Amino acid sequence: MSQRAPDMRLFPVLGDQLSHDLASLRQVKVGVDHILMVEALTETSYVSHHPQKIILFLSAMRHFAEELRAKGHVVIYQDLESNPHTSLHDSIEAYAAKYRGVVMTYPGEYRVLADLETLPNLTWCEDDRFICSLADFKTWISQRKQPRMEHFYREMRRKTGLLMAGDKPVGGSWNYDGENRKKWSNSAPLAAPVAHPISETTQEVIDLVAKRFHLNFGSVDNFNWPVTRKQALVELEDFRTHRLRCFGDFQDALRTRDLHSGSDFLFHSKLSTSLNLGLLDPIEVCQAVAQSLDAGLAPINAVEGFIRQIIGWREYVHGIYWVMMPEYKKQNALNAAAPLPDAFWGGKTRMTCLAESVDQTRRSAYAHHIQRLMVTGNLALLLGVHPDALNAWYLAVYADAVEWVQLPNTHGMVAYADGGLLASKPYAASGKYIDRQGDYCGNCSYNVKKTTEPDACPMNSLYWDFINRTAELLNKNPRMAIPIRSWSNMDSQKKKAILTKAQLIKQGFRENAV
Ligand code: FAD
Ligand code: SF4
Repeated sequence: MSQRAPDMRLFPVLGDQLSHDLASLRQVKVGVDHILMVEALTETSYVSHHPQKIILFLSAMRHFAEELRAKGHVVIYQDLESNPHTSLHDSIEAYAAKYRGVVMTYPGEYRVLADLETLPNLTWCEDDRFICSLADFKTWISQRKQPRMEHFYREMRRKTGLLMAGDKPVGGSWNYDGENRKKWSNSAPLAAPVAHPISETTQEVIDLVAKRFHLNFGSVDNFNWPVTRKQALVELEDFRTHRLRCFGDFQDALRTRDLHSGSDFLFHSKLSTSLNLGLLDPIEVCQAVAQSLDAGLAPINAVEGFIRQIIGWREYVHGIYWVMMPEYKKQNALNAAAPLPDAFWGGKTRMTCLAESVDQTRRSAYAHHIQRLMVTGNLALLLGVHPDALNAWYLAVYADAVEWVQLPNTHGMVAYADGGLLASKPYAASGKYIDRQGDYCGNCSYNVKKTTEPDACPMNSLYWDFINRTAELLNKNPRMAIPIRSWSNMDSQKKKAILTKAQLIKQGFRENAV
């Protein structure tokens, strides 16, 4: 390291802060201050991350360090293999004493904030890569009795001017969700995803991860996530050219993998990793997508549906996370206590929906939203899996998993552990929903039309078991009135048969026999 100058400061940059315009980096005096990037063991092992997630973070960090050096910065890079410290805190502290001060942008995760806030001489900068600042979100939520994403989303539309004609929504409607629910159809043209070249740096990281993390769930093969801003921009263009047009129609579709022709990603953008690491800015992504509407290249239900996910859901869960943590994570409103079935970690199952969603996760560290919410999420909700086990799984297995976005989605939207703060009702569904959205059920050895017979779809009895188990807790929720009434009006013999079947299914999960 070069000699200490009296006013030299240290600027640590975290693995999801890979933005050249990061608030703290804007303060760096080139030629005076130093930037520090650290690969710490605790970060690679606080859950059992999918190997592709570790490759993504480490490779993107190493590329970012090179880009900073090319811009004239002095970057100290501590790699995993030679780091004598295990935690981020200790790794940074080891350098901090040599500097007049340490300047960082606030981390995205509460865990990291708690770890770092005791560093000496530390100054924080707000992370301004979000459209809604945390202060504005706190004000917004404090003025609402029952906060809902849709109201927040409209404010974000007004604030950004995206899809606005004056003070009116473009197309006349704020939300085209009703046009985003088509069942999968083989007539829709699926393009293979763009292939990102593997640089020497990425290959080194792949070899390292294959050696050190080979026991973790997930494959290291076919790594294809963007690791630089340049690659992320290619991904964005690929999405706009090949997938955006059908994104709206098939946003909620489910499809069995066709080894000969298909893509795991359907018409989804694959942009969450680039957004979460900071390689892309949410506004630039939304503006590029809005341009496709202006140019007549994509319909309004696709463009609005996509932009809603980013300036609506993504911003909303970010605000909820920081307003509610750390208490949020401890809630368990439905008293769920069951273990996570082995099938989530690749154990054998005859349920096609589950096997497909988990296998895709294993292969690519990716599943699209409806697989996460309505297949794995729904099943875990119906089984009553404890939120801690569920959160740990979702945080581990997806390349885009960082806690500020994973936790509200899992804990709130899937598990309803927050008692309805995020979702207005539990997203519980029988096999009928999965059948309606795609071709999984047609390719399954269970029969989606049956509930209690030996070959009945497990989701069906589990669904009624869930309604029975939670009716008392949820009977004040008007959106649960219909299923609760249907259950209470059901013939008692039928009810008994359904509950007995559900018990057998639960036992089957414990014995890996479903
Ligand atoms: P697309 O379908 O193309 O959507 C476009 C973008 O919108 C995404 O890239 C993402 O940035 C944003 N987005 C979409 N839905 C959401 C949402 N519900 N919340 C926040 N942002 C959203 N997303 C993560 O980025 N990290 C996670 O760890 C994560 N965990 C999830 C866990 C569960 C249980 C569920 C139900 C959803 C989770 N999501 C998470 C949200 C969503 O499923 C992913 O963002 C999406 O599947 C990523 O794929 P994509 O980029 O192709 O998304
Ligand atoms: Fe899943 Fe049931 Fe359909 Fe099989 S029949 S794919 S288990 S929902």
